[in-house]
Amino acid sequence: MFAAVSDPPTRVRVIPLQPGLGALDYLAPMPLAPGDIVVVPLGPRDIIGVVWEADAVPAREIADGRLRAVARRVDAPSVAAPLRKLIGWVADYYLAAPGAVLRMALPSPTALEPAALVAVFRATGVVPEWTTAAREKAFAALAGVEGSVAELARAAGVSDGVIRGLIAAGAIERVEVAASATFAPPDPAHAPPVLEAAQAEAAAALADAARAGGFRPFLLEGVTGSGKTEVYFEAVAAALAAGGQALVLLPEIALTAPFLARFEARFGAAPAVWHSDLKSTERRRTWRAVAGGEARVVVGARSALFLPFRELKLIVVDEAHEPSFKQEDGVPYHGRDAAVMRARFEDCPVVLATATPALETRALVEAGRYAHLVLPARFGGASMPVVKAIDLRRYPPPRGKWLSAPLVGAVEETLGRGEQVLLFLNRRGYAPLTLCRTCGERIGCPDCSTWLVEHRLLGRLICHHCGHVVPTPPACPECGGVGTLAACGPGVERVAEEAARLWPRARIGIATSDTIGGPARAVAFMSAVSAGEIDIVVGTQLMAKGHDFPMLTLVGVVDADLGLAGGDLRAAERSFQQIAQAGGRAGRTAERSGRVLLQTYQPDAPVMRALVRGQAGAFHAAEAAARKEAGMPPYGRLAALVVSDTDAPRAEAAARALGVSAPRGGGIVTMGPAPAPLSMLRGRYRWRLLVQARRSADLQGAVRAWLAGVKLPSSVRVGVDVDPYSFL
Ligand code: ADP
Ligand code: ZN
Repeated sequence: MFAAVSDPPTRVRVIPLQPGLGALDYLAPMPLAPGDIVVVPLGPRDIIGVVWEADAVPAREIADGRLRAVARRVDAPSVAAPLRKLIGWVADYYLAAPGAVLRMALPSPTALEPAALVAVFRATGVVPEWTTAAREKAFAALAGVEGSVAELARAAGVSDGVIRGLIAAGAIERVEVAASATFAPPDPAHAPPVLEAAQAEAAAALADAARAGGFRPFLLEGVTGSGKTEVYFEAVAAALAAGGQALVLLPEIALTAPFLARFEARFGAAPAVWHSDLKSTERRRTWRAVAGGEARVVVGARSALFLPFRELKLIVVDEAHEPSFKQEDGVPYHGRDAAVMRARFEDCPVVLATATPALETRALVEAGRYAHLVLPARFGGASMPVVKAIDLRRYPPPRGKWLSAPLVGAVEETLGRGEQVLLFLNRRGYAPLTLCRTCGERIGCPDCSTWLVEHRLLGRLICHHCGHVVPTPPACPECGGVGTLAACGPGVERVAEEAARLWPRARIGIATSDTIGGPARAVAFMSAVSAGEIDIVVGTQLMAKGHDFPMLTLVGVVDADLGLAGGDLRAAERSFQQIAQAGGRAGRTAERSGRVLLQTYQPDAPVMRALVRGQAGAFHAAEAAARKEAGMPPYGRLAALVVSDTDAPRAEAAARALGVSAPRGGGIVTMGPAPAPLSMLRGRYRWRLLVQARRSADLQGAVRAWLAGVKLPSSVRVGVDVDPYSFL
């Protein structure tokens, strides 16, 4: 397999950190082992790579005489075998280049170097002699913040120039800080809760598994507020007590200060945190501390799965049903599934915690592959909210309004009792479509086949697919008509406007990624809600998770039908999960019970009936039966291919060429090519092919062979998505 020490130099296989490039062989002038991080020459440049088992990845044939030599070994912890296996699995399963997957496992090259000190900038407290609005803003925002110039500028919402001006004025200074900060160890015995019987039973099962080690997947299912977090914290405690590290994955939006505060209250120290917004210094520190074992618990977004743990003894995936665990750009992997694989390679238990398990997970429980732990009731005797549907055919809202009379009445009662309301609508902005009443023009995105969404608070029209932004035009861009543009349909801003007209004295807060994007603003908003400073929250799914607001007793789902439109494979299942989660915000204490009102034009749809009657089991059984019948996931498998080009005929020709040799037979069928529902995105024309396979068929092998056999123009891109979640 591999000779570690070498004289004369041996050949080593290296995966360069270069997406789109496979493994390459080099000469090793120094002793090297798989997992070592190295610098290798590639063309005129030096790049980072990782030494790999030669029998685990194929490489291009290069004759001995033409091999170049590894430049040096980087003084950083090697990529350990379980993580290498995960990287290999992700590359194989999702048909991705190993280099692209490897990039997710290594921080930026500079962070690999063992710099003892790094330079950061921070406020000195010195007030500059003269000031401007931008300087004032930066000054106010930056107390206690440190980072690079660009990071400070971003945190304060000012330009780099403003920060440089403040440095020149002495208000911000450059300091050198230790690259490796200390991570206080969480104490498993710090403040354990007294668990209720069902909680204690589930916690014991998980803690035993964490102590014993060995790969064991669990589904921890319990309604919102049943204490799933408390329960898996006991498993974290057991992993810590056994000398291990633990990883808790959360959807990015749930990674908020309240969760971290709760962790700290239980364990007496904060966990290490990992998400896409970390500053480069924090990224380097955390990565090194995880590799060195000083960081004992990491709470992170899905990317934390690729951290270099050295003694991982537990993985938890909280809100495991969340579709956002699926990465949609770059390497399209599913964080939940990759978490289970990492646990398998680390030989440790993995816990999927959720109130609304995905059908994929339920099927694995039924097949006996996952152990099932259930928390049947809310903690402390709190009752579940009462769910009722409002039939919009009987109670249509007035024209141009979105709240029906029964919902308006319920809001009034709730406000009258001094309690809080959440109006849930999973759509950002003011209106999803702007239409000219004179000429019929609908304002679309120039680069995508979609309409621009009006964001009135920003005075802009925005494409939610590519981010294209224009100021809201004063007149119709087509016919020039003034005052003829009309907003069609509701977004949260519009519902907030309606609520403000109905209840002028109520304090209304909008909660979307536009208004409370970024952890700091989210925390401020959530504490304002907790403190009772807001009466009505109008929010998207950003509001649907994790926060406890004891005074919030009414959840109005403004458009319960929204998720059913478009009709992809998981539309009904997702609607169920989303509405159940949003409803879970209502009345989470024993003293006050909550209610959930669903505005719908389809009160008889199976999802609505399941939500109203609390018959999740029957609904999922029916969904599962339909999927089984159609050979759809989790009973069959899918791979989606999107063929795109900036030139429409070329995109179509490429899609048709692929269609001709598409895999068929042996339990595999290919549907399409057909224009993708989003037929243009970012200026590229898109066609789709969908490969459906029996579980027993070799889906990846068939797709790999297929793509290898078709030569396409270099401008054509083929995106492959195994187990797709988005069908646009
Ligand atoms: P879930 O994760 O299932 O939504 P949580 O773990 O967040 O539930 O628990 C809901 C609320 O009940 C939280 O405020 C939590 O602190 C509290 N809670 C749950 N179990 C206990 C317990 N055994 N002792 C004290 N508080 C508890
Ligand atoms: Zn666009």
